[in-house]
Formats: sequence, C-alpha cells, structure tokens
Amino acid sequence: MDELAVKALAKINLGLDVLRRREDGYHEVKMVMQTIHLYDQLHLKKIESGIHLETNLGFLPVDESNLAYRAARLMKEKYQIEEGIDIRLNKRIPVAAGMAGGSTDAAGVLYGINELFNLGIKRKELMELGVQIGADVPYCIMRGTALAEGIGEKLTSLPPMVKCPVVIAKPQVSVSTKYVYENLKLDEHTQHPDIDALIQNIRTKDLPAIAGSMGNLLETVTAKKYPEIEKIKELMRENGALNAMMSGSGPTVFGLFDELETAKMAAAIVRQSGLARQVFVTDIYNNRR
Ligand code: ATP
Repeated sequence: MDELAVKALAKINLGLDVLRRREDGYHEVKMVMQTIHLYDQLHLKKIESGIHLETNLGFLPVDESNLAYRAARLMKEKYQIEEGIDIRLNKRIPVAAGMAGGSTDAAGVLYGINELFNLGIKRKELMELGVQIGADVPYCIMRGTALAEGIGEKLTSLPPMVKCPVVIAKPQVSVSTKYVYENLKLDEHTQHPDIDALIQNIRTKDLPAIAGSMGNLLETVTAKKYPEIEKIKELMRENGALNAMMSGSGPTVFGLFDELETAKMAAAIVRQSGLARQVFVTDIYNNRR
C-alpha cells in the first residue's frame, strides 16, 4: 500500500465541567466527548524522504506548528521510518472552534501512518503517543462516546450516544482555548453542570433527558464575550432543537434534534440570520477505531 485516505472526525462536548485549577496552571476537567460525522479529509502517501504537508486553507501553517505535521514527525522518529510522507489535508472542520480540529488531524495521521507502513502498533500505544501532541488526541484516536477526566487525557468509554441529527454553527469569531481557561472564574458560587446525570441519561438512551442535562461551564467566559453564541442557541431552540449548547471553549454552537427535516430547517434559519457563516447538518458517529 502506497497511499491511504483517512477521515479525521470532529467532536462536540455534550457536557463540560472544570473541577479545579491545578498548581501547574492546567485545569482538571470532567467532559463528555462525542464524535460527530463532520470531518477533515486526510490523504497520506509514501514519498522518498521528508514530510510534506499541503492544506486547502491558506492561513494554516504547514510546518511544525501544524499538529498533523507534528504527528508525522513523531511517528517517523519513534519508529525510524526512512521513507517520506506526503500529507494532503482538506479541512472542513471549523478552525479554532472548540471541535478539536487540529487534534483529530494529528490522530488521523498517527492512525494512518500505522496502517500505511504496516507498523502493527496497538491502539493503546498510539493513544499514549498522541498525548505528547495534545490532551484531546488520545480521544480522537479512540472516537465514540467517552468521559474525559484529568486534563482531558484520562478516558473512560461510555455506552454509545443515541444517534440523532446535529446542527453545527460557527460564528465568525475565533476563540483561543488559553484565553477561555485563563478567564474562567471558579469559586463557591460557580454552578457546575451535572455530568453524572448526563452520563446516566446517556446510559438509559433518553434523548430529551440527555439534551436537558447538557451543560458547559466555559460558556460563562466565551458566551459572555460573544453574544452571538446565546442568540444562535435561542434560534436553534425556537426552531426545534431539543437543546443547543457551545462545544468546548467555543465559539461553535451545536443543537440536537430528533428529526432530520427539522434540523435542516433550523440550519437554514441560522444561516440566513447571518450569525454564523459555517453551518452544517450532521449526526452522531459511534464507531470506535
Ligand atoms: P480544541 O477543541 O481542542 O480546543 P479547536 O477546535 O478550538 O481545538 P483547532 O481547530 O485545533 O482548535 O485550532 C487551534 C489552533 O491550532 C489554530 O489557530 C491553528 O493555527 C492551529 N493548528 C495547528 N494544526 C492545525 C490543524 N491541523 N487544523 C487546525 N488548526 C491547527
């Protein structure tokens, strides 16, 4: 095999709580991660030498600072791969959006190189390697429904989430995860989402209850700064979403629906409102790697 196409799927957070700030500045989180069927397309090819990366987005770096490149370098060094790797990255996942776009590209490259060069690395080892690139990378290798704790790298798989249509809307603003965590206030007045209740509802496969127990503590920072986030949530709810919430550190908003037709109509209304340029109708993706 000389080339391989890999889908790098995005995630949403059905729940995101921050428990505390650690001495080292990192935050201890408790998040429910869910893969969705929105993806970047990766095309990997063996070449003579080096690492060559190309993307369809002019503003994205194609060197060390791109996580896909970093993943290829890590694999080449760790497993002493002599040949080179050509990576074509066709991005569809909104950038700096709270959907783990860069992390999932890195995960796709780790997974793809393992396949392409027939390295036979076990998933667990690949996940351990992934954490060197970013806390979300191991989850992006695993996929499906999972509880992420620690700084996001401690994963427990959960029963698969009920499949349903999902509308994704990314407002024009970009948010740095670092800014959001630095501006998060944690004290005795903080109202934490009930992640355990959410997990229980996922177990019993009760979609309206799942939607009702979603919560993201980081909205207290990002949605306060960008009012369009609340407006998009409102618009989705008024147009049939069981619930709508910000994913990760934002600014992307997602809505869960029980009917595809309703989801499509709500997406069209959000698009028309001008509040978000990147709007997608997708669904829950549950296959693990
Ligand atoms: P998270 O949900 O993990 O916080 P995110 O969706 O908010 O991630 P990314 O899309 O991963 O954020 O991008 C954050 C930054 O990382 C961007 O500003 C970009 O320059 C850089 N970056 C590096 N590699 C990539 C990549 N392959 N795709 C997108 N961004 C990348």
